[in-house]
Amino acid sequence: MIVTFPHAGSGWVPLKSLFDKHGIQCIVPPKSSKQTLSLGVKHSPEWVCLPYKILLGNMLEGLELGADTVLNIGGPGLCRLGYYAKLHEQALRDMGYDFQMVIFNWQEGGIVGLAKFIRTVLGTDKSWPQILGDVKFGLQQLLLMDSLERHVHHLRPREKTKGSVSKVWRDCGDRVCAAHSPQALKKVREELFGELDAIPLKPNANPLQVGFLGEFFMALDSFCNMDLEEELGYRGVEIHRSAYLTDWCKVWLFFEAIGLSHSKKVKKAASPYLSRDVSGDAMSSLGETVLHKAEGFDGIVHVMPFTCMPEIIAQNIFPRVVKDHDMPVLTLILDEQMGKAGMVTRLEAFVDLMSRRKMVQKRAARGAGVGVGSRP
Ligand code: SF4
Repeated sequence: MIVTFPHAGSGWVPLKSLFDKHGIQCIVPPKSSKQTLSLGVKHSPEWVCLPYKILLGNMLEGLELGADTVLNIGGPGLCRLGYYAKLHEQALRDMGYDFQMVIFNWQEGGIVGLAKFIRTVLGTDKSWPQILGDVKFGLQQLLLMDSLERHVHHLRPREKTKGSVSKVWRDCGDRVCAAHSPQALKKVREELFGELDAIPLKPNANPLQVGFLGEFFMALDSFCNMDLEEELGYRGVEIHRSAYLTDWCKVWLFFEAIGLSHSKKVKKAASPYLSRDVSGDAMSSLGETVLHKAEGFDGIVHVMPFTCMPEIIAQNIFPRVVKDHDMPVLTLILDEQMGKAGMVTRLEAFVDLMSRRKMVQKRAARGAGVGVGSRP
């Protein structure tokens, strides 16, 4: 068996580590690129959302490199995600690939469902305690990746030399993946945080605080969002992303089941605007915006793929949220036609607007009586 799977943020780290540990050959597809996108676009209906195309491109690259088993995610849902896996499988078979697809139903069984899925792939000769130990260790690796990434978001707008934080971040996945024991993971954690904390910072940096939210996959995947986090960081913005894989795991694998999830707070905040779940992350986009305003954020960057059903609903409700909460929101609709230069121009204008608002608010708070139209 040679396993492959599509990319989803840092998800490849615990998966590859798990298969390496058990001696199962695993092909991580190359990082998503223009080549991945054109492969996906070529074999997808034009109207389907961008994540479908990118995931298909990843699978094609993995199969071309010799994989014979594809892991995918599926299950019920109100948007297209529910039937992605079946459509991917059919499309790949129509292209003539011979493989087996193993689908993880993310809405069924919580942590037990995940353990069953992993046992199906690793083999039923593995004991349950061993599988549960592997799941726990994989979640710890993911947790480390997410805390490193949060730290990267904090440091990037403060770094003295542009690119020093990204340079360390680029190696984090491989180094965490190579740690196969709790002791090795602890060591790599200390090393990576040490390297990040050794980066010289600007002494008086005062970054804008911006919420980064929207469709889960778009927010997670740096190729799809055209390195938006990096671009914002280089322009003096500290971003606070709502979507992390471990948050998703906490919600779906643990907390949702026992009613302790952060999503309850988010749903409450969104309830004046959206009273029922329309699937995807629409509820979270609206609720997090309201919560971020209360936390004193300077703005929101909202990303969504063209034709994304839940986020179109959120996008249409945003003007009311913006008006009620006086919160600047920039929505970026992404698809294969989007060019980076156009996106960067919009980002720069948005950062400029937030900086001016912040300056005006500061001066007003000091009683200087400066109007919105005043020159800085
Ligand atoms: S949330 Fe939107 S982009 Fe994501 S799978 Fe559903 S329709 Fe597609």
